[in-house]
Amino acid sequence: MNIILLGPPGAGKGTQSAGLVERHGMKQLSTGDMLRAAVSAKTPVGLEAKAVMDRGELVSDEIVSKLIDDNLAAMDAGTGAIFDGYPRTAAQGEQLDGILAKHGRSLDHVIELAVDVEALVERITGRYSCGNCGALYHDTANPPAKDGVCDACGSTEFKRRPDDTEETVRNRMEVYRSETAPILPGYEARGIVTRVDGMAGIDEVAGAIDAILA
Ligand code: ADP
Ligand code: ADP
Ligand code: ZN
Repeated sequence: MNIILLGPPGAGKGTQSAGLVERHGMKQLSTGDMLRAAVSAKTPVGLEAKAVMDRGELVSDEIVSKLIDDNLAAMDAGTGAIFDGYPRTAAQGEQLDGILAKHGRSLDHVIELAVDVEALVERITGRYSCGNCGALYHDTANPPAKDGVCDACGSTEFKRRPDDTEETVRNRMEVYRSETAPILPGYEARGIVTRVDGMAGIDEVAGAIDAILA
């Protein structure tokens, strides 16, 4: 099973990917996570991507498609892939088709997380994650059960992303509208798109996604 989770920044792609990994043993392929790892490690890709990401603009299609290709090459053929935050442009969508074919895979579902744009600023400015295991939280909507302690690993270190500011978020949403949303009609024409109400609670969204995959 190979699926794309599509939606603007803050729609819940990372949160739902983590649930799918846990419930179904799929693998999350998040180009944002891969790029942040490259930035931390100060690799050539990371050094090139950092300023672009801080401005909320898009890293080049060639860089992100190569990250996806390399990650798929290292995966067992039987493990399902969740594409999170990729593809984000028409060119990436075409590159993904080629990469999937090369690895003997094909797309089963594109799940569109539909959200209200105004709620996204609140979601993103309230977002933080565990500094140790990466578990995602939100100041009000999704705090850990015990204040200041990660549910998943017990760490007390948390971090926020440098690009999760209101100004950058508005730019990222505009980039989504102009570059990413236009790739949906092509997938709709293939009959593989299902819309899910991303404004529902996290567990409810997870249930709707599981119903699509069943
Ligand atoms: P969010 O979860 O808020 O949508 P991501 O973690 O997916 O954000 O991405 C963070 C940043 O990394 C993006 O703003 C962009 O600069 C870069 N990035 C991630 N994925 C891609 C991609 N597929 N193409 C181009 N740039 C990307
Ligand atoms: P994306 O990967 O699409 O950018 P995230 O999964 O990182 O989005 O979610 C953004 C923020 O919103 C996080 O702080 C997360 O805890 C919170 N969040 C995710 N899904 C929901 C939901 N259904 N309702 C309320 N808050 C949510
Ligand atoms: Zn943790």
